[in-house]
Order: sequence, then C-alpha cells, then structure tokens
Amino acid sequence: MSERRVYIDYNATSPLKEEVKAAMIEDFAVYGNASSLHTAGRLAHARVEEARQAVGKLLGALPADIVFTSGGSESNNTVFQAMRQIGLDSEGKVRSAGRTEIIVTEIEHPCVLNSAKFLETMGFKVTFLPVDEYGKIKIDALRTALNERTLLVSVMMANNEIGTIQDIRQITALVKNAGAWMHTDAVQGVGKIPVNVAELGVDYLTMSAHKIYGPKGIGALYVKNGAPLSPLIHGGHQEDGFRAGTYNNIGILGLGKAAELASAEVERYGKELSALRARLRDGLLAKVPNIKINGHPTDVLPNTLNVSFPGAEGEAILLSLDIMGIEVSTGSACASGSLEPSHVLLATGVSPEVAHGSIRFSLGWGITPEDIDYTLETLPPIIQRLRAMSTVK
Ligand SMILES: *Cc1c(COP(=O)(O)O)cnc(C)c1O
Repeated sequence: MSERRVYIDYNATSPLKEEVKAAMIEDFAVYGNASSLHTAGRLAHARVEEARQAVGKLLGALPADIVFTSGGSESNNTVFQAMRQIGLDSEGKVRSAGRTEIIVTEIEHPCVLNSAKFLETMGFKVTFLPVDEYGKIKIDALRTALNERTLLVSVMMANNEIGTIQDIRQITALVKNAGAWMHTDAVQGVGKIPVNVAELGVDYLTMSAHKIYGPKGIGALYVKNGAPLSPLIHGGHQEDGFRAGTYNNIGILGLGKAAELASAEVERYGKELSALRARLRDGLLAKVPNIKINGHPTDVLPNTLNVSFPGAEGEAILLSLDIMGIEVSTGSACASGSLEPSHVLLATGVSPEVAHGSIRFSLGWGITPEDIDYTLETLPPIIQRLRAMSTVK
C-alpha cells in the first residue's frame, strides 16, 4: 500500500471543507428545535434561515423557494412524487385526460431514472431521450416527444460520469412553451459552473451538500413559486408542510456554509480545475496509446475527465491505482458493485467492452499539479501491464 493518498473521486463525494466543519462543530452547541417559539428555538430557527439565504444566493433563488431535504436523491424523488399526485385520479389510476407523460434522458442519475421507472410501473408514459456521442441530448427527440400531454421534463444539468453539460436554458424554453414542468438535477453543476434559476427558467432544481464540500445527508430543492409540490414525508409543518421532521440544524448549517463558499469560489474553481483537468488529459494522451476521452470536448465540467482504456478492465485499473494510493472510480458510485457497464457510456454509443475499460477522474480542491503528475507516472505502466495480460483485444 502506498503512503501517498490522492483522492480523485470528487463526483462521488467531497471531503468537508475546514470552514464547513468548524461551522458545524459550533452548531452542536445550538440545541433548540427550530420550530420552538422560545429563545433557544428562535436562535436555531434564525440559523436555519441564514443557511436558506446562502443556498438561495448560490442558486439565484428567493430563500422562500428553497426546501431542505436529505440530499439529491430525496429532492429528485420529491419532484416525481408531486407529478404522481397530479397524474393519478382518486382511484389511484393514471388519468385518461390531462398531462400525465414524463420525459427524462437516458443518462440521468439512478435516483431520477428509477423514479421515472417507478411511475412507469404505475401506468405513466415515460420517454427516455437519447443522447449523442458526447452525451448531449438530442433536441429534435425532445421536440418530438413534447406534446399537450407532457407533464414533466427532467434533464440533468451536468452528468456525474462524463461531465457533459446540457443547455438547460434552451431546453427549458422548449418545455415551458409546451406547457410542461421543467426539472433539472443540478447536483454536479452547482458549485462547479454558475447556476441561476431565474436565468434558466426551471421550475425545480436539485442540489446536494456533499458534492460541494458540505456534509452528507442534506440537500435542497428549488421550487419556483406556483410549481406543484407534495410531501414525501408527512408530519409536522416544517418547510410549509412539504417536508416534515425536526430540522437537521447541523446539516443545514453545513450546507449553508458550503453554499456560501461555493458562491465566492465558483469562478476560481472553473479556472483552476480546468487547468488541472487539461494537465491530466494531455498527459494521458501523450503517455498512453489508444485511449478515448468520453464526454463533450468543451461543454464539460471543469473537474471531470472520463477515459476509456480499451484492452484493460476498469475494476482492475481502479484496484491497481488504489494500491498506489490513487482513488478513482469506474463510473458512478451508485452503480459500482454492479457488473453492468455504465448506462451513460452505452448511451453515448461506446461498446460494452470499451465501457468496461473506462475510468472517471473527478478532481476537486485539494488536488495539486504534483498529484496529477504522480498519477501520470503511475497509470501508464498499469495500463501496459493490464493490456498485456488481457484476453480482450
Ligand atoms: C450524487 C448525485 C445525486 C444524489 O445525491 P445524494 O445527496 O447523494 O442523494 C443525484 N444526482 C446526481 C447527478 C449526483 O451526482
């Protein structure tokens, strides 16, 4: 085992920033229930509302339009829950008239894909939009799929595996023109590229704290004033009755602090991370023959580099790198452990064999040029050895 640890898997999760950790530790002393009317409660409540303002500022939203959730998965599920309530009649059957059709892309995160598939089992019509070789959705397919029965369109802002960024503003304009609700899962976009819900025009936007150096188990859903919402968790009147349960103050504080830092740093993030990404990409292209860079050449997250190494097997590359102290992934953390090749790479037309030999490098604050150079020294001999051993050519 190498002493040196180089974590290059920030799209799976990011470590807490020191400032976030300090804010959270301080908040352990704030014991009040944010819904209580006494002083301790009001103090806790004030801090929750400050965090809501920080999240609103990061997203260009009014604080009143931010709902705290347990994370990206819950935020996404909440949107599909609202659609389920609209689409079902009093007997629990999909309405025969009105808007009941859902459109998502083939490359969504499992929590959107499986929410859509769940509605499909209940009788909703769901269209899975294809993407091109770079992972961009095919706008013509969206135009064809949209009709007067479309209820919701959900398109992720940036893909967690290949980093491709969609033109959410253009997509939203089409969707709103067709009279449907528009949701974007922006978990990977927020903090990495500028995000402004007013400019985008979306009705719903999902974000998660642990992908922006905040704690796990907390996130938010932006809900435009007037967009339908119904609770996944019934109970008390927290979050205007849309999300019951005593406030997770410490988590919310951590999210607020992470949002505040992300607002201040997003521009510098873009510059510094894309320079590191270019160093890694150019180094790999120079040192490893016959590789393929996946994702869009320019409309891509500054931190995400997905590379196929034909003739080598992804899990073997991952484990060999881990022994050398370098932590990467073969795709999304949620799909690892399954032997299925990445649904995202397959959707871009990569063959199952090549998809199996692919690695996602996702960079973040804390990675230095020396870490990139160490990776560039370590990886080429591993690929050479694995290719020499391989029976797949
Ligand atoms: C990580 C991730 C999620 C899930 O967020 P959690 O807070 O872990 O539930 C959803 N969508 C995308 C694109 C993600 O990368």
